[in-house]
Amino acid sequence: MNNTVAIIGAGQMGSGIAQTVAANGIDVLLADVSLEVAEQAHAGIDKALGKLVGKGKIEIADAEATLRRITPVADYAPMQDAILIIEAATEKEAIKQAIFEKAGQYLAADAIMASNTSSIPITRMANYAPDPARFIGLHFFNPVPVMKLIEVIPGLATAQTTTDRTTAFAESLGKEVVLSQDEPGFVVNRILLPMINEAVFVLGQSTAAIEDIDKGCRLGLNHPMGPLQLADFVGLDTCLDIIMVLYKTTRDAKYRPAPLLVKYVEAGWLGRKTGRGFYDYSGEEPVPTR
Ligand code: NAD
Repeated sequence: MNNTVAIIGAGQMGSGIAQTVAANGIDVLLADVSLEVAEQAHAGIDKALGKLVGKGKIEIADAEATLRRITPVADYAPMQDAILIIEAATEKEAIKQAIFEKAGQYLAADAIMASNTSSIPITRMANYAPDPARFIGLHFFNPVPVMKLIEVIPGLATAQTTTDRTTAFAESLGKEVVLSQDEPGFVVNRILLPMINEAVFVLGQSTAAIEDIDKGCRLGLNHPMGPLQLADFVGLDTCLDIIMVLYKTTRDAKYRPAPLLVKYVEAGWLGRKTGRGFYDYSGEEPVPTR
């Protein structure tokens, strides 16, 4: 077995994880629904690294070496050599289940399978993997190269050695680890998503305008970013998926999604990744959409 980590799902998170892992000298296999999508992600990482070079944050030789370590792949067979497979696909349990079952066929005897899920129970998803003792939650934050935190979430069947090895891996990326039990939303999203959802209720009830809701939280709570701006960063579909998992798993009405959040997702206004969410990103500066 060599020094390789495989990542399945090459969207915002998978791309960021690939970049961060490769920047730490580890070879990465990157898969998505097709080779083309994985290659597009590779091109996106190239662009992101180019920006860092342009800002003088990294050397061009390091950017090139990081990119060279990332190999887009068409299927999961090459993952048989990976020490760790990280799933970072869309926040839908059926999609993740299919990935764990398929990729599980190639999981090496001593390798770990991890999910970057924001909210889906680890204990339940461990049943889709070949060995629940080697299955764990490894929750990165967006944008991955910048954000310092990783939550490590053992499920009920996760072996202590799996937790220890996963924590050591996370720390080897220069990140700080918070250990969370496998409860809905883990630690950070359990607190964050009700706040974002409430901000959308406030907007839907016309209590205040988008920029005032964000300004209120920036200046009144000393948050670096307002909740609607942050929701656009996370992706409104992902926010809705997470709040729905909280709602369905706890059956607590306090997690019911704000109707306006559902509407934005139905309109395909998913935030930064689609160019429009609570803000429109088509111009130089983001412009509120309401
Ligand atoms: P995204 O929409 O940017 O990317 C999802 C990717 O998954 C897409 O490239 C899509 O093509 C791919 N995908 C879908 N079905 C697939 C399949 N069957 N096989 C392989 N790839 C498939 O979403 P994202 O923001 O990168 O979120 C991905 C995961 O990370 C989700 O579980 C999300 O909850 C979690 N997460 C997101 C954030 C955030 O802030 N966005 C933070 C932490 C964790």
